[in-house]
Amino acid sequence: MGAASAFRLRQLGLETTLVDPCDGSAASLGNAGHIAIEQVEPLASWSNIRSVPRRWFGRGGALDVRAPLVFLPWARRFLTAARKENFALGAEALGSLLLHALPAWRRLTKDVGRADLLSESGHLLVWESEQTASLGRAAWAAADTGTARIQPLPDATLDSLWGLTHNRPVDGIRFSGTAQVTDLSELADTLEAAFRAAGGELIPSRVESLSQKDGVATAHLTDGSTLSADIILVAAGVGSARLMSDLGHNTPLIAERGYHLRWTDHDWPSELSPIVFEDRSMIVTRFAGGLQAASFVEFGKAGQKPDPRKWARLAAHVKALGLPVRGEPSAWIGCRPTLPDYLPAIGQSGVARNLFYAFGHQHLGLTLGPITAEIVAAVADGRTPPVALQPFDLNRFESRKAKRA
Ligand SMILES: Cc1cc2nc3c(=O)[nH]c(=O)nc-3n(C[C@H](O)[C@H](O)[C@H](O)COP(=O)(O)OP(=O)(O)OC[C@H]3O[C@@H](n4cnc5c(N)ncnc54)[C@H](O)[C@@H]3O)c2cc1C
Repeated sequence: MGAASAFRLRQLGLETTLVDPCDGSAASLGNAGHIAIEQVEPLASWSNIRSVPRRWFGRGGALDVRAPLVFLPWARRFLTAARKENFALGAEALGSLLLHALPAWRRLTKDVGRADLLSESGHLLVWESEQTASLGRAAWAAADTGTARIQPLPDATLDSLWGLTHNRPVDGIRFSGTAQVTDLSELADTLEAAFRAAGGELIPSRVESLSQKDGVATAHLTDGSTLSADIILVAAGVGSARLMSDLGHNTPLIAERGYHLRWTDHDWPSELSPIVFEDRSMIVTRFAGGLQAASFVEFGKAGQKPDPRKWARLAAHVKALGLPVRGEPSAWIGCRPTLPDYLPAIGQSGVARNLFYAFGHQHLGLTLGPITAEIVAAVADGRTPPVALQPFDLNRFESRKAKRA
C-alpha cells in the first residue's frame, strides 16, 4: 500500500518520501500472491460465523484466537457488521473497489516496466469429499464473485491434478478473471526501484509517533528527526492503528495472522494456477522462488510469538495431500491488517487536514494495493477518486457523539 502509493504520488510530481524500516515484516512479502477479485462478500458475515465450529483450530480447522482481550471488543463490532443490511452495504463497497483492482494492477505493472509480474491465468479450487464438494458448489454458485467467472473443473483437469496429489480431488471449479503476482519480493524491489528512479526518497526508519497542531499533523521518526509535509499518508499495515490513535482516531485494527511454508525444491508445473484446497483452508501458489502453502486466520497481536503448531499443521496437510516437494521449507508468519467490518480504511483525517490513510485491507491487500494507490493519488491531486470513499472513512468507528463534536 505504501510503496505503490508513494510511486503514484511521485508520478504526480510531488516531492515524496517513503519511511519504512524495511525489516521484512510486511504482510505484502509473504502472502499467497492471489489477485482475489472474486472475494466481493466481506468476511463479516453470518455464513462465516456459522462456519466457526467447523473451522476451529482445535478441531483441525484454520481459525484461532491468540489474544482474547484484543479479540473480544473487535468481535463485538464484527457481529454488528455481519448484520444482513450491513453485510449488503459492505459487499457493495468492497465490490466497487474490486471492480477496479485488476485494471489497476495492469496499469501498475506496466508503469514499472514489469507486466510479466502479473499472470492472469485465474485459479482453481478443489474439494476432497462428496459432502464438501456439494456444499462448496452451492455456496460458490450463490456467492457474489464480482467480475470473476466460475466453471466446473473438467474431469481431465481433475485427473491431471491427481498426478500431483495422492488422491484425485473429488471435484473443483475454475475461476477466470482472477490473477496472480508471480514474485512478491521482485515486485517489492521493482516498486522501490521505480519510486527511486522517479526521484522519490526512501528513509529506512520508523515513524515513532504523530502529533498535530492547529489541524496539521507532523511525523516523528525513531531517529529523533521530524517530518512535516503537505500530505502525510499512513499506510503502515497492522502498525497503522497506533499511529492513527496518536491523533485520537478510533482504529479497531486487529492482527489477523497467517502462516506459510515455502519449498524451493518441488515438481509443481510452472503453468499451474494457484489452487485452493478448500477443505483445508489452504492455498498453494507457485512463485518464482518456490512452491508455497499458506493458511490460517489467527487473531492475535502483531508482536506475539508465532505458534509453531500452525507450521506443523501446514506441513501435515502438504504431506497428506502428497504434494511434490522436497527438503526443508522456509517458514513465515505475517499480519493481515483487519478492521471488524472487513472493509479497508481509505480517506482523509477529520483531525488533521494533511493526514491521509490507507490500511486495513485484510485478506485483500495485495489485490487492492494498486487501486488504493490510484485513489490516494487522485485525492492528493484534488480529483474525484474512481471509487466513492464514504464507506471506507475511519469515522465509521467513531461514536455519534464524537462525530458531532
Ligand atoms: C498468509 C497470508 C496470505 C495472504 N494472501 C493474500 C492474497 O493472496 N491476496 C491478497 O490480496 N492479500 C493477501 N493477504 C493479505 C495481504 O498480504 C495484506 O492485506 C497486505 O499485504 C497489507 O498490505 P499493507 O501495505 O497494508 O501492509 P504491509 O504489507 O504489512 O506493510 C506495512 C508496512 O508498513 C511498515 N510500517 C509499519 N509500522 C511502521 C511505522 N511505524 N513507521 C514506518 N513504517 C511502518 C512495515 O515495515 C511494512 O513495510 C495475505 C496475508 C497473509 C498473512
